Amino acid sequence: MRYKIAVGGIHIESSTFTPYISGKADFRVVRGQELLALYPWREKYSHQVELIPLIHARALPGGVVSHDFYQEWFDEFTGLLRRQLKNQSIDGLFLDIHGAMSVEGMIDAEGTLAKELRQIIGHNILISCAMDLHGNVTDDLFNACDLLTCYRTAPHIDTRQTRERALANLLRLLKTGRNKLVRAKVDIPILLPGEKTSTEVEPGKSLYAEINKMTNHPDIWDAAIWMGFPWADQPRCHGCVVLCGTDKQLIQTEAAALAEKFWSYRHDFVFVGPTAPMKEAIKLALDSEQKPFFISDTGDNPGAGGAGDMNLMLKEFIKLNQQHKISKKVLFASIYDETSIEQIYQKQIGDKLTLDLGGKIDLSFGGPARLTVAVDYLFTHPVAGRAARVHFDNISVIITENRFQYGKWEYFKGSGLDSFDDYDIIIVKMGYLEPDLSQAAKGWVMALTAGAVNQDLLHIPFRHLKTPLYPFDHDFTPNLTVKFANPL
Ligand SMILES: [Zn+2]
Repeated sequence: MRYKIAVGGIHIESSTFTPYISGKADFRVVRGQELLALYPWREKYSHQVELIPLIHARALPGGVVSHDFYQEWFDEFTGLLRRQLKNQSIDGLFLDIHGAMSVEGMIDAEGTLAKELRQIIGHNILISCAMDLHGNVTDDLFNACDLLTCYRTAPHIDTRQTRERALANLLRLLKTGRNKLVRAKVDIPILLPGEKTSTEVEPGKSLYAEINKMTNHPDIWDAAIWMGFPWADQPRCHGCVVLCGTDKQLIQTEAAALAEKFWSYRHDFVFVGPTAPMKEAIKLALDSEQKPFFISDTGDNPGAGGAGDMNLMLKEFIKLNQQHKISKKVLFASIYDETSIEQIYQKQIGDKLTLDLGGKIDLSFGGPARLTVAVDYLFTHPVAGRAARVHFDNISVIITENRFQYGKWEYFKGSGLDSFDDYDIIIVKMGYLEPDLSQAAKGWVMALTAGAVNQDLLHIPFRHLKTPLYPFDHDFTPNLTVKFANPL
């Protein structure tokens, strides 16, 4: 028997601390064969499964998703699903999402989506959901799906395996029958910034290692741990564990044990690298004898949802340079600013012009930085769009037409660099350094800068988180009740 499984989803993490709205232009939408190509392992299952592509949309982390785009995606997704249900029945739905999407006018986007999909497909078709461990799992999402799993690594190097597991678990459930499955969830009142949730160092490493131990038991099918998403002001943002299997007593005991372990580690989660407040980080870089010295502008990391146009660090360098000319060669890679690119592209290499650079998305951080620069290099990149490298004194800035992250050497090369050593100090918008950069770095610090993804959670003005919650509250007894899925 070949099971018919529809597949599709929507994948973005949305910071609610940026006025930036993620819309149609931010998403890459795939359908048909292009969608199926997201699952390169699918041939392995082709004798058992017919995967039916619906639609999948994916964006770089950003802001809240526009209602219009979400509605357009939802209408197409559900339209295709309904047509499929009408023409030929399906056995399952494989929902491929991140879990930290916010949509204008919605509090729990993925939970609401799963509930609506359940209403459309009825109670006889199974839903299996693959997620990012930085997503959130509300009771609605948990109850509307039959199976939920998420990545087991951060940085995420098991994205393919996670999706494959979501499908394999779905197949297993189709063969076993839903009434045999027991599912349990425990909410963990902990919220951590992304740069503290690495599974390559302790305690994340030991916590996630528990999953392998648990799933060695034949009666435990899957165990998953969500760290939750810290840059949305919503009650659902906190940790969570979900277990499923066929032995209720065992699932109860192991879910409780995993939750206790997560809670007991709460004080041990630390930043994966050296951190410093912004001014201190700049001083470290300027005083360093090593080159290149990288500074991560963590609060504006577009890889987590930052706007990508913040200029607080640039303004600080301008100020220092005015007081005393900076002799080191400094590169900002990069600042997103469409308007400045428009102006630059009316000039030639070597021309000078005055820009009001960056700071345009969230004006509460003081607005653009005014500076007069010379144009050094013009280039384009498929994602970054038109781009330019400009300089004043010893400070160079790469400016891009679209939101972009300088995470690979090839991007720097494309900006006209011969080597990372061309500069003494390189400022990038990310958290921990991506591999090319960390290999090149002779010095590095993560600057705890303000922005849409401020790593310093205690300084974010949250209003809607579910409390008590660590690290905002201390000395409370957590409610680690094991909740079983509501029978459908
Ligand atoms: Zn993630």
